[in-house]
Amino acid sequence: MDFVSPWTPAPSRASLGGLPTPDGNPDFGACVVCGQPIGGERHWHHRGTETHARCKDWRGEAFPYEWELDRLRKLSRALRNMTRAVDAAGIWLAAVKRAWPRDAHVRLDQWGARRTRLADELREFVERVGRLK
Ligand SMILES: [Zn+2]
Repeated sequence: MDFVSPWTPAPSRASLGGLPTPDGNPDFGACVVCGQPIGGERHWHHRGTETHARCKDWRGEAFPYEWELDRLRKLSRALRNMTRAVDAAGIWLAAVKRAWPRDAHVRLDQWGARRTRLADELREFVERVGRLK
């Protein structure tokens, strides 16, 4: 579940390249808590008001990065699964090496199929990780 907050980060001066806003105000007004200019500080825009991130009372806000935790859990699980698949392939191939050349013609075919399956899993893994961005 993605976090949806009514508090959205306002553009900072830095994101505007340090240029003033179209109305000529470089500071986005004053902080509703401390009354000081927002300046180039990180701040939050809500219903036409700005608040310095350092001034905002965060106690009433839900943790905003729950979705990041979920993403990290998914990435960790995918990494573990991929590591297990690579380890299993290595263990299997090392066993074939130890037994070499017993059943060589069968093992070579089996390795070809395993290798293809592992390559497919790795490709899917990379695509899955790419979607987590
Ligand atoms: Zn403030």
